[in-house]
Amino acid sequence: MSKTDTQIEQPVILDELLEEHPPSSLDKIVEHTCPDFLPGETNLTSAYSALHSAVQGRIIVNLQLALNNLRITGESPRDGYSLDGTAGIEINDKKAEIHDEQHTLEIAIIEVKTGNIKPFQAAAYAYREGVPVLTAELQTGNVHYLDQEMSSTFLNEFVDHQRDLNQLGELEKRIPGKFQCRNCALTSCPHNRDDTYSHENVLRDKSEIFDNVSSVSDKLVKEIRDIIEEMGYEIDVTAGMEGGIDV
Ligand code: SF4
Repeated sequence: MSKTDTQIEQPVILDELLEEHPPSSLDKIVEHTCPDFLPGETNLTSAYSALHSAVQGRIIVNLQLALNNLRITGESPRDGYSLDGTAGIEINDKKAEIHDEQHTLEIAIIEVKTGNIKPFQAAAYAYREGVPVLTAELQTGNVHYLDQEMSSTFLNEFVDHQRDLNQLGELEKRIPGKFQCRNCALTSCPHNRDDTYSHENVLRDKSEIFDNVSSVSDKLVKEIRDIIEEMGYEIDVTAGMEGGIDV
């Protein structure tokens, strides 16, 4: 099937894709090169999820503090709303939203990653929710932007990769890979590896991610401001508001 064929059926295929696979699974699937890869039990230390939760908490609270003294005014030609300056920006779970008494406008989804970023997961969120995703990569301090328009590129690649893997499977062709075979549960395969790696130094190796909390929060604020201005609104900084910090 050509790329054009895939794109013609895109909305149906992508909707089915997201029903079948949770967004968090997409990046793992697309990195596999072997059609017979069998996911096994992963015995990951809880240190990763503990660090992730802590850093995410630090980012979300820093972000809300930084957004607290911003007020939104003006009209958005795109959304058709008129805001009078009483609207502020609030973090609701992982979404940044504009709130006033009459309106709730979703601005962006905030994803925090202490390890590798997941562009296919971000694409799934952007496609499904219809708002950009800002992925904060704590290891480097970068913030990555992915919007609904870009999302179909990633999701179509996912669909194509699954098609190609199925074709390899029909040819009974396996492609081994160092990490893939180590995590594969198909022990009858001659390529299977049972060597494990140590997670004992995770806290020492990863603790520097906290160094980037402040700069990542600042970059998220800038991205959120840019998105709001692109929507057509203006942003006023209200100095001296309780709980607010300068941005
Ligand atoms: S061990 Fe490697 S080559 Fe064998 S089935 Fe699993 S992923 Fe494929």
